[in-house]
This record gives sequence, C-alpha cells and structure tokens, in this order.
Amino acid sequence: MPKTIALVGAGGFIGSHWIRALLSRTDFRILAVDLDFHRLIDLQKSEAQKENPRITFCENDIAESAVVEKVAECDIVVNLAAICTPSRYMDEAIAVIESNFTHPIELAKACAKTHAWLIYFSTSEVYGKTSSAAEPLLEDSSDFVQGPITASRWSYAVAKQLSERYIAAIPHLRWSVVRPFNFVGPWMDFMPGVDGEGIPRVLANFSSALVKNESLILVNGGEAKRSFTAIDDAVEFLFCLLAHPEAAYSQAFNVGNLQNELSIRELAILMRKIYAEIKGISPETLPPMREISGEDYYGKGYEDSLRRVPSIEKAKRLLNFTAKIPLQNALEKSLRWFVNHYGA
Ligand code: NAD
Ligand code: UDP
Repeated sequence: MPKTIALVGAGGFIGSHWIRALLSRTDFRILAVDLDFHRLIDLQKSEAQKENPRITFCENDIAESAVVEKVAECDIVVNLAAICTPSRYMDEAIAVIESNFTHPIELAKACAKTHAWLIYFSTSEVYGKTSSAAEPLLEDSSDFVQGPITASRWSYAVAKQLSERYIAAIPHLRWSVVRPFNFVGPWMDFMPGVDGEGIPRVLANFSSALVKNESLILVNGGEAKRSFTAIDDAVEFLFCLLAHPEAAYSQAFNVGNLQNELSIRELAILMRKIYAEIKGISPETLPPMREISGEDYYGKGYEDSLRRVPSIEKAKRLLNFTAKIPLQNALEKSLRWFVNHYGA
C-alpha cells in the first residue's frame, strides 16, 4: 500500500513547494490541510483533481480536534502550520503562542496514539538572541537565549522551543524536528496591500518594494546577518529525511547553508543589483535604501538575532543532506517569480 502523508500548512510557502515535489516524486497519498490554499489553486481545479486523485484537500483549522484526529491517521504527519512572520510577534503574542505551542502539542499527542511519524517544523529562532559571534549553532548542545517578557519578539521562539521539549518528552512518539534557517524562494509570504497586509519576511518585503519601485527598508542599519537557504534545497532535505527514518527519529535538524551568509544590508544591495539586471536598468535609478529602528518599524518589543550560523554537520552525517544552491541563484529565481507574478 502507498504511504499516507499529511501536510498541515500545505498551502503555505514551504508546504506548497513540498506538495508539488511529493506529487511528482512519490506515490504517497496526501492529505493537505490549511486555512488557505491560494498557492495551490491550480491543483484544486477539477481537471487537476482528476489527474491527482492522490491529494485530499482539507480547508480546516488544525485547532479543531476532529481535524487533528483525521491528520494523525496518516503514516507521516508534517506540521508546518504556524504564525511565523516576525511583525506579528509583538501584537499577537497569544495567537502566536497558541499556533506554535498549543496546537502542535495536541497534534503530537494524537500522533503518539496512532504511531504516526511526526515531522515538526520548529525554527532556527529557538537559538534566540544570538550575538554576532561566528560559532555555529549545534542542535544538541547550543544554548537558547531569549529576551525578557517585555520583548514579545521572543513569543514565537519560546513557543517553538517549548513545543520541541514537549514533543521530545512524549512517550512512544516517533518524532523529528526541523529548524529552518531563512528559506527563500518563489511564493514566499505576500505583497503588502495586494494579497496580504502587514510586513512580510525580508525576501518578500524587499521583492515587493523593488516591484513597487519603493525604498528597501534596512532595520537597525541592516547589520544583522542571516544564512539563507534555497527552497529547492529544503525540498531535497525532505526527501533525505523520508529516506532515513531510523536515523531521523528523536532528532532535531538544522537546515541551513553556510555559504549563503550575508548581512541584510548586503542582501539589499545584491537584490537591487539582480532586480536591475532583470529589468535591464541601472541600480542607481532605483529609490535609495532607507534606515529605520526595529521598534519604529515593527513596534515596541522587537529585538533581533544578530547572526545565525547553522552547524550543518548533523544533517550531513545522519541524512546525507547538504544544501547546495548559491544565494545568487535562489534570489534570481525568486525575484523573477515576484516580477512575473506581481509585476502587472
Ligand atoms: P507560511 O506562513 O507560508 O505557511 C504556514 C501555513 O500554515 C499557512 O498557509 C497558514 O495558512 C497555515 N496555517 C496557520 N495556522 C493554521 C491553522 N490553525 N490551521 C491550518 N493551517 C494553518 O510559513 P512557511 O514559511 O511555509 O513555514 C512553515 C513552517 O516552517 C512554520 O512552522 C514556520 O514556523 C517554520 N519556519 C519557516 C522558516 C522559513 O524560512 N520559511 C523559518 C523558520 C521556521
Ligand atoms: N529586515 C529588514 N528589512 C525588512 C525586513 C526585515 O532589515 O524589510 C531585517 C529584520 O530586522 C531581520 C532580518 O531582516 O534582521 C530578517 O528578518 P525576517 O523578517 O525575514 O525574519 P527573521 O530571520 O528575523 O526571523
């Protein structure tokens, strides 16, 4: 019998890439759960449904216990559902904590009863308020450092951390935890004022500003650094994970790319250059970049991680996974997609 896999949060950025890859590379039967499937409209059309009877769409909230029970009946459960845009961590702390702790642990408890393998999406932000030091963050020995309660930025990281600890403590649960390091690619987040409101994550915010001919905003001078990972590498990671279940059980994995580290200011300069090349214009003709403080941009309670350097050794050793795609390629692909999708 083909395996069954549930993707909770299937309609999101990562989920929408994974579901297409699962369709083309496996014979799994897929239960896709989300509140919103706008990224998968093409797969929901009746003709596509006839071609892909292996997908069942379930437009429901994972907070509902009936949905939790249905999901946990699958052999493998991937939980991607979350509120995970930093601009929401300050004003919506309760919803952020419920989404990243309360709901995931109910699903984890249900998976323990059915013996489903739970692949839980946590975050590289569990490492917290990292300094600008270059030490790689290790899954099983690095400390987690979060700011005070008044800095609500950390509501998400703390909720993810607690859900990881809870999951690891549930008897008889087969689990794996994934900690993404800033995945980037087409269909990330939204364009403010067009198909979403608020502030999306940096790739989508910069891409949106470029397409709208607006200034790129550098928060706190764009001094913070991130290691970016192409979404196509993240898709490969999933297949490495699925290929090595015994090695993956009871383990947390960083998914990152050491080669793709740069400051947010450097990212802005690089994206302006790539965008100008796509449009056949000079970067100097684009509006100048603008600096703003974190609290002025995101609101009171915003703090930042200054640097996040993943140790990538464990994913290599246990799953034979190494991210390979250079940032330049990932940004070109993403920006072309943003220009084509929103340009008109
Ligand atoms: P996303 O926001 O694009 O996708 C999340 C999806 O979950 C959305 O489609 C949303 O509608 C859905 N969802 C939210 N609440 C739900 C609910 N109650 N019931 C059903 N569906 C619900 O985010 P993403 O970038 O695809 O991230 C997926 C996971 O990976 C999240 O758990 C996130 O915390 C984690 N993560 C991602 C990154 C990254 O670089 N993209 C970095 C760190 C962690
Ligand atoms: N950032 C920025 N300008 C923007 C959006 C984000 O300077 O328009 C900065 C943000 O302050 C952080 C980094 O870019 O230092 C990455 O932010 P993102 O929201 O993508 O997610 P994070 O990695 O902080 O979870």
